[in-house]
Amino acid sequence: MKPISETRQKINRVQQAKHLVRATQSLDEVYVLLNQLSSDVLDMYPHIACRSMCNTCCKGNSMPTVSAAEWERVHQYLLQYYTEDQRKALIDRTREMYNPRKALYWAVHDTIQQDPTPEKLAAFAEILPQLMETQCPMLVDEKCSVYLSRPAKCRAHGTFLFVLPPHVQFHACESEIEKMETFLQEQGSRQVVMPVWNDFEVKINSDFNPPEAISTILPIWLLSHIQNGELRPDTVLTPNFEHFRLQDL
Ligand code: SF4
Ligand code: SF4
Repeated sequence: MKPISETRQKINRVQQAKHLVRATQSLDEVYVLLNQLSSDVLDMYPHIACRSMCNTCCKGNSMPTVSAAEWERVHQYLLQYYTEDQRKALIDRTREMYNPRKALYWAVHDTIQQDPTPEKLAAFAEILPQLMETQCPMLVDEKCSVYLSRPAKCRAHGTFLFVLPPHVQFHACESEIEKMETFLQEQGSRQVVMPVWNDFEVKINSDFNPPEAISTILPIWLLSHIQNGELRPDTVLTPNFEHFRLQDL
């Protein structure tokens, strides 16, 4: 029998992403699958620029939404691999960005909790441009300092689709969306082979988090894990976020 070509294998894998992610047993398996699918898509669409260590998604208004179980990975990574000085610097730079804009950060937090509707998208469109001067607190010297534990959404940038009924969008920055639109025009059809982020979000939230856990942005997760000016040693998957609302860091 003729072996299936490598390209065909990649296409099959991407087309079966929904089933593959459903079969995963752990967050680690989801991350491995995300990395593999992202690499498959990059191979199929060489014009996508996300391969070039781009960190633009880590800056400005593109803040990853992070589930409790994913925050636990990041938190434990910070405790294990950051030095005490690095943790202090992390808290200092988060404070610098957060304190003058805390109402905006909480507006993002509240909007994340809304059902996926066009109104939610409109709310984000109003708030996020006001956060252009910020960046992810994990970005250090232009690199992700928690790369091996980075959340799922960071792994999906540029190579996934995102469904917000009735629309299907590219999960990418504006310049990549424009490039993909040009590619589709040249291709003469709107057919793309890309996994859908929503399937991964559903899996992560339903299988690897306590039912009452919510997702939020990294600065708010950090805020909820700082005690007496230091990172607390245990991860709280369901913190009382209201306790921290509008407090200075
Ligand atoms: S989506 Fe855009 S900003 Fe994000 S990694 Fe890809 S090229 Fe960079
Ligand atoms: S966790 Fe890392 S990859 Fe994700 S936004 Fe922050 S710096 Fe970027």
